[in-house]
This record gives sequence, structure tokens and C-alpha cells, in this order.
Amino acid sequence: MGLFDRLTAKFSPKKSNIGNTQPVCPYCGHQLEKMPGRKKRCPGCDQHMLVRTRPRDRKKILIREDQAILIEEQWSIANGTHDQFLAARREYEAERNRLQKQLGREPTASEIEWAKLTKELGVHAKQYQWGLYRNARLSMGDILKKDKKYKDALDVYLEVCYLDLNGPNNCGSTDAQMLREFPPFNPKDGFLAPGVLGYVDNLLHRQKLSKNDIKVRFLAISANVQNSLGLPVAPEKAWRKLSKELN
Ligand SMILES: [Zn+2]
Repeated sequence: MGLFDRLTAKFSPKKSNIGNTQPVCPYCGHQLEKMPGRKKRCPGCDQHMLVRTRPRDRKKILIREDQAILIEEQWSIANGTHDQFLAARREYEAERNRLQKQLGREPTASEIEWAKLTKELGVHAKQYQWGLYRNARLSMGDILKKDKKYKDALDVYLEVCYLDLNGPNNCGSTDAQMLREFPPFNPKDGFLAPGVLGYVDNLLHRQKLSKNDIKVRFLAISANVQNSLGLPVAPEKAWRKLSKELN
């Protein structure tokens, strides 16, 4: 039985009433001054408490990190997307088992997510779903940032900026006629996402990088991506646009 089956066997999502509606730590019972607005460390036991809305009664609750998946499942039932939820969990479990064999130890959640996203990248590239491809790369950057691998995270966010400036489209077809009409990358649809720019700004300040350091890295990364995906925008031109937006 996988971790997920064990979890759902223990807490049936329909019957369970998980979470504290009072400002009480779900790990150690420490009484907080008030209900936190978002994820917070308990001053009593130093563990991360999460804030969620419970689908059954729409009450704001405090939960443990291991309970997040249960609330996610309850919401999928409430939203009529339980089948997708279960399919995604099965895929997660399969990837976890595969990595466990490969590594000879329990993989981290990041390693499992990373492996899933790597697989998705290949599928999106094959189907010419370049918008989805870009989103998967962004999620990979988020994993690196979460794991405090700031240098690698910055590189991936710079790559996402370059992809965005090329205007990635979800073609979903490799038919030549279709692609002439709806090109996989169209610089006219190019943009820079404020959220990604914010991450780049934040990470370059954190690493005390100069604008020239960033330029060198951006050009190297872009040249690489341009070569492998055959993108239309020259790295130098993309840099001129990006550099105007950085603080
Ligand atoms: Zn606590």
C-alpha cells in the first residue's frame, strides 16, 4: 500500500473533520494569539502550520503539513474533479516508486515533482504545447527556489523570461499548414510576466549580482535555449527588453 492509500484509509475524506478552527497549533496544541492569515511556524514547536478553508463548512482551519493533501482531496470531491485528483496521485506514487528504486532511498517531494515535470516537458515539446512547456519550466524554477538553490532557480527564471519574450503558443499540432498560421513561437505575442520579473529581481539582489553578471548569464542561457528549440528572438534583443524591466 502506498503512502497515499494509507493516508486515505486512515482519514476518509468524507467523514473526517480535520483542522483546528481555533488558533491552536495542530501539532502541539500551543495556543496562538490569533488565527494566522497564512503558513506560519508555531512558536511552541517550530513546525509549519498551514491555513486552509475546509470544503465541508467553508471554515478557516489550521492543519499540519501532512494534512494538506487531505484537504486538497476534499476540495477535489467538492469541485467534481476527484478522478483527476486520484489520477494525479497515482502518477505521483508511480514516480515515487520509480525514484525509490533508482536512488535506493525515499525520494524527497521535490525530487518527485522534478521528475514528473521533466517527463511533462518532453510531452509538451512533442505536442507543440509551448505555453504548457513554459509553465512546467516555471514550476521547476519554483522547486529550486523553495529548496533554496537560488543560483539554479535564477537560471531557470531567466530561461522563462526568454521563452516568454518569444511568445510561446499552445499549438497542439505539428501539421505544417497549421503551424504556418499559428506559429509555435510568435514574438508579437511576447511578454514578460511581472511575477517572474519579481523573482529575478529578488534573486539577483540576494546573490548580489550586478546587471552585467545577469546579462552574461542571460545571454548564455538564451543562446542555449535558442539553439535547442530554434527560437526566433535573438538573445541580445531579448536582453534589451528584459534589462529595461529589471530594477
Ligand atoms: Zn506547535
